[in-house]
Amino acid sequence: MNRPALLSLDDALPQLLAHARRLDGTDEVASFDADGRVLAADVISALQVPPQDNSSMDGYAVRAADTVSSEAVLRVTQRIPAGSHGSAVAAGEAARIFTGAPIPPGADAVVMQEDCEVLDDQQVRVRTPAQAGQWIRRSGEDVTRGATVLARGQRLTPAALGMAASVGQASLQVARRPRVALFSTGDELVMPGEVAPEAMKPGAIYNSNRFFLRSLLQRLGCEVSDRGIVPDQREATLAALAEAAQGHDLILTSGGVSVGEEDHIKPAVQALGELNLWQLAIKPGKPFAYGHVRRADASTCHFMGLPGNPVSSFVTFLLLVRPFVLALQGASELAPKRQTLTAHFDWPRADKRREFLRVRRNGRGGLDLFPNQSSGVLTSAVWGDGVVDNPAGQTIRHGDTVAFIGFSEWMA
Ligand code: AMP
Ligand code: MG
Repeated sequence: MNRPALLSLDDALPQLLAHARRLDGTDEVASFDADGRVLAADVISALQVPPQDNSSMDGYAVRAADTVSSEAVLRVTQRIPAGSHGSAVAAGEAARIFTGAPIPPGADAVVMQEDCEVLDDQQVRVRTPAQAGQWIRRSGEDVTRGATVLARGQRLTPAALGMAASVGQASLQVARRPRVALFSTGDELVMPGEVAPEAMKPGAIYNSNRFFLRSLLQRLGCEVSDRGIVPDQREATLAALAEAAQGHDLILTSGGVSVGEEDHIKPAVQALGELNLWQLAIKPGKPFAYGHVRRADASTCHFMGLPGNPVSSFVTFLLLVRPFVLALQGASELAPKRQTLTAHFDWPRADKRREFLRVRRNGRGGLDLFPNQSSGVLTSAVWGDGVVDNPAGQTIRHGDTVAFIGFSEWMA
């Protein structure tokens, strides 16, 4: 029998994202707590930053014209620390000034203290003529009043939180957290802590996917309800899916989504809703599935089924689940940044599927390949710091340029 061609990632991703309508509802959260959340409204500045022209040095505010004769001696008539403001500087006068203090009227330059000689309490000698405007930070040079400093759809970073604070925002309007029900399937799975390594029965393995999937979801702003391990049985799978559909936006599962008799996820989703996508032309990660599960009120919950092999699960999360949960929050940037780097390895066997090879940047501007690319070998994802996105049918020779996607920005 002819198998239908697998769906390419480039075809699957837009289809998937077309389903990822932005969730209703926003939260107002303290700016202190908003790291990683997606802005639901533009942040517009009601003021100039800096608010006034101010000094970028400790020194003396002067009228530049008074300093043209070298070794000019000026009268020091006032002192302006940061947080205060001065009065007008007249011809022949200087104001002692500190970094961040507003430039007093009349002054048009700051001379740094290293270029001055203090003669006594009231007199200072300026050794080098000042240029008008020097060491002055202009009002509004960072932000002008009315400017959009952060845009709806932007994911908040530490620097963005600082920016919001600099325009006076103590709280921010952000997308609500997607509620995600997470469960693992597999009768072989055992939770660490429940059985000691030396007591593990033959055939048993620890559940590793649960740990990285949960933390990846949390890093992306999701509220995770972790439903544990579901046995490889039709009834149990149906019950777990039906229950998880209530009160969640997305059900994320790992394992049980292939074609064996022990794989119950796919038929269960079809029984309770519909399967929209299944099996992609990627390696690792072929048995990815996307669909919907109906709730009691006939509304639907998104479903994503990841393969059980840990590396497949990890990679399909980053390729497909990450953009999906960001899109649910209305994020504007869904694709990770790519870099063109040099392969310091050979990959002589082309594959029919597009591959995501676990690699590590070396200190010589190139990429080293983890020797075992098996989808069960999680060491490759720990040793590696990203993947090479290798097109279908492509071999790689030492020295070729390849597309690299770093885990660090992908996971952020
Ligand atoms: P499956 O997709 O259920 O056929 O599983 C494929 C492989 O991944 C099998 O070797 C499973 O034992 C393994 N596996 C499935 N789920 C997990 C998990 N949560 N943690 C670690 N390995 C898993
Ligand atoms: Mg299984």
